Amino acid sequence: MSEKDILQTEITYLKGVGPNRAKLLQQELNIHTYQDLLELYPRRYIDRTHNVKIKDIQEEGRNVVVIGKVVHTEMIDSGRKKRFVTYLDDGTGVAELVWFQGLKWIEKYFTLGEEVAAFGKPSIYGNRLTFTHPDIDKLSGNEDADIPKILPVYPSTEKLRAAGLDPRGIRRLTYHLLLQLHQQKYTFFETLSDHIIQEKNLMAKHQAMYKIHFPRTFEELNQAKYRLKFEEFFYFQLQLAIKQGINKQTHKGFKIPPQSHLFVEYTSKHLPFELTQAQKRVLQEIEQDLSSGIQMNRLVQGDVGSGKTMVAFLSMLNVISAGYQCTMMTPTEILAEQHFKNISNYAQKIGINVALLTGSTKKKQRSQLLQALKLNMIHILIGTHALLEDDVQFYKLGLAVIDEQHRFGVMQRARLWQKNNSENTTPELYPHVLVMTATPIPRSLALTLYGDLDASIIDELPKNRKPIKTAIRTEKDRARIYEFIRQQIKEGRQVYFVYPLVEQSEKLDLQAVTEGYSQIQALFPEYKVGLLHGKMHPAEKDDVMTKFKLNVFQILVATTVIEVGVDVPNASIMVIEHAERFGLAQLHQLRGRVGRGEYQSYCILMTDYQLSAEGKKRLQTMVETNDGFKISDVDLEMRGPGEIFGTRQSGLPDFKIANIAQDASILQEARKMAFKIVENDPHLRMPEHAVLLENYRKMVSEKSEISRVG
Ligand code: ADP
Ligand code: MG
Repeated sequence: MSEKDILQTEITYLKGVGPNRAKLLQQELNIHTYQDLLELYPRRYIDRTHNVKIKDIQEEGRNVVVIGKVVHTEMIDSGRKKRFVTYLDDGTGVAELVWFQGLKWIEKYFTLGEEVAAFGKPSIYGNRLTFTHPDIDKLSGNEDADIPKILPVYPSTEKLRAAGLDPRGIRRLTYHLLLQLHQQKYTFFETLSDHIIQEKNLMAKHQAMYKIHFPRTFEELNQAKYRLKFEEFFYFQLQLAIKQGINKQTHKGFKIPPQSHLFVEYTSKHLPFELTQAQKRVLQEIEQDLSSGIQMNRLVQGDVGSGKTMVAFLSMLNVISAGYQCTMMTPTEILAEQHFKNISNYAQKIGINVALLTGSTKKKQRSQLLQALKLNMIHILIGTHALLEDDVQFYKLGLAVIDEQHRFGVMQRARLWQKNNSENTTPELYPHVLVMTATPIPRSLALTLYGDLDASIIDELPKNRKPIKTAIRTEKDRARIYEFIRQQIKEGRQVYFVYPLVEQSEKLDLQAVTEGYSQIQALFPEYKVGLLHGKMHPAEKDDVMTKFKLNVFQILVATTVIEVGVDVPNASIMVIEHAERFGLAQLHQLRGRVGRGEYQSYCILMTDYQLSAEGKKRLQTMVETNDGFKISDVDLEMRGPGEIFGTRQSGLPDFKIANIAQDASILQEARKMAFKIVENDPHLRMPEHAVLLENYRKMVSEKSEISRVG
């Protein structure tokens, strides 16, 4: 016990820290204790045996480390923008390190003649090699003499650097702490069971904690990394496995027999197309869930245009046949209205009542609707968040479908469960939940994000689809593009022009799209042009969308409001203005608005800027593939899961060392192990799992503290 206490020592007591630095470490890096410091893992390592020579660098935009001596520094004030330049000589050439910000600090930072490692993506102007805002690590100084050739580089911040805690400063703290622990013969507590360590051939925790900071070889380092990443993923998956076990055990659901008369009648007489194999497979999976007597919690992932709506509708038919009601919740009114129209069309063929409830439903209409809902006169209720209001009560809700899930949280899902009038249903029985998303989530991540949901994937597009052709174009191509558009409209097609959210300011965004609208009107006087943006009244939006659907408008100028779910199969061209300003996932969603019918469709990515390396990669990825899963993999790699999903909402923990995008295979291994263990030992009661139980409890209690605060 006393051993564990050492790691809980407040960081202020560590040699070289003291109250001021302790406060900064807390504020800047959330480091409170010795343990926190040791869990601040290096961002990367400098291989002093293998750095790149300046003369050999010929390629821009790739991360490299150069090591050299500071030969000159200067502040350059050319009038426009002040910059500070440090010249680094490694004997083969000179690199320029340039700063535009933090000048006060950086100006005082370097000493002539000292040895420095610079890490970053260089650019080459003429034959000058330039690093802008590189990461810097000072190498000279006796203290580092006994540190091996592989140097850890820790994150730091401007404030910490100002207090002497640059990456080297933090390295010294970590080094001294580990040295102290070593001298005290401290042993790191082993956090995984022996049998896991043996089966997976993992490095012991004790060793890993030293080797992750100061490895002697890269092989050692890799083993340490693997061990620590595995551990992080393992506990994360263990929590999911246990939660899933609990979910499965506790919620019973209504039994819904498959192949009901409504289902058979509709599929045999009215189905407007043949289902794809993937749609059929997913339908079967849903049928199985619905008839099992256990509440369904299923996620259906399908790329844009894969036909999720029909799958949902057909599933509803079985539920309605069994005497229950269904609801479908969407994130936007446009989408709710579209689903309402499509599903009403399908439903009227077999005498099913469908209603729509959104924030703009009139009061009187709303109360009539709620009345009818309670009397079981509405079979399918489609709507937005408005469905979650307390007074929306069903007679007998059997199935809740949530479309485009990523915008709804787990809590909202749970609120839909409570929508039944208890007189008509048994309170222990819960409505089934079907979540549909077109956000292409990498498979590895889907498991993680929706660990409490079973997942189905519609991985096939309807047969008649032709892959969308995507191209990057610039201003000089405009005339030709407009010509092409005219020709397409003459053949009966329709066109989207999409404008980005330019600034933080809504006013300016509006300006961009309305200006675009007037330009397009002037350019295509022979056609009718519609305008759609987020600031319009819902009824107005609906009107515009309907007119576009009916081909009253041949061209629709819009902001990203059309990003989610809008379905106009006759539209075959999408022009995205300033495409470089959109994220990958967003571009993919937007592009999914075309290519929904039998026509060859085109997506034109307009860009008039010199693209950044990342912008280039995004657009190039769009040109190369139509596969949402591939695109999301690239996106995940470029941005990381936190930025895509928001760690808080997604339920993803902040991993300290593991990376969901890059370590997907470790995640799989850890997941398998965690689920196997929970299957055999659901409550972790076996003696060999005592350590797992202890850590699990700790994590769960920490988490609930956070959620209580937040
Ligand atoms: P999403 O999965 O993006 O929600 P939708 O359900 O909106 O896709 O379907 C896209 C379009 O494809 C709709 O016009 C729909 O009627 C049509 N569709 C769905 N399934 C099929 C199919 N099996 N064959 C042909 N067209 C289909
Ligand atoms: Mg959809």
